[in-house]
Amino acid sequence: MKNYIGEIIDLTGDSYLNPVPAIYDNGVHNRAVGQITSISVHHDASFRPHDYDSVARYHSEAAEHYKRLGPGLQYHYKIDNVGQIFQIRPWTTWLYAVGSAENVTMLAICLDGNFENQQPTREQFEALYQLCENLCEQHPEFPATWPDVRSHNDYSSTACCGANLRGHILPIQDKASAQAQLLNQGVYDWPEYQSAPPAPTPPPPAPTPTPINPGTTETPTPPPVPATPPTPPVNDQTHTIEETNSIVKQILAIVTSIYNKLIGVFK
Ligand SMILES: [Zn+2]
Repeated sequence: MKNYIGEIIDLTGDSYLNPVPAIYDNGVHNRAVGQITSISVHHDASFRPHDYDSVARYHSEAAEHYKRLGPGLQYHYKIDNVGQIFQIRPWTTWLYAVGSAENVTMLAICLDGNFENQQPTREQFEALYQLCENLCEQHPEFPATWPDVRSHNDYSSTACCGANLRGHILPIQDKASAQAQLLNQGVYDWPEYQSAPPAPTPPPPAPTPTPINPGTTETPTPPPVPATPPTPPVNDQTHTIEETNSIVKQILAIVTSIYNKLIGVFK
């Protein structure tokens, strides 16, 4: 579900939708926030197209309200088909929205559409829930709370807020009943505006090994093992000398033997 509260558009600076009370009633429509005792829910009883200019619609509705009710649009909040919440009037201005003495103490929320023959969009249900939750639970200075969320027909004789919404508003007594009545209801008018669930974070890419030989994936040839160094020739020379000595000794032995035999002959 989107966070509709975080995207509220403030139209209180539009002097046609929200004329300063001092200009038209010498301050009679001012009130303290602490005087608010209920939240009234309305439809605007006009066909709601799939694609339209919301602010232009509100200017057109305000023109009707100027003629029939009083200056400006007579709702504090509007909610369009995509669940966009517009703040039209400040809490501290009371309006002609419920046709009874409770005008002075109620805050009015109006959804775009004729809910006698159209359905509220899922976005409108969700935004209405979030707005009521915000007012009832997030603002200690705002006195009204869940049992004070009421359909217009609960104040005076009217079809407002329409057959397809009244049944969702009248049972609201607490947060749980508000959730049951307003969440998972209806069909999204613009499902493409709903944010997709966050994709799981992909694992970080494995580091790419730097190839030793760019352009080939073959296992690099290991460096050659150095051959066993040849035996130094010193030993060979030693053997040669020893062998030579042995031969010399044998010759000397033979010569000595012959010499001794010759001496024996001539004795
Ligand atoms: Zn109404």
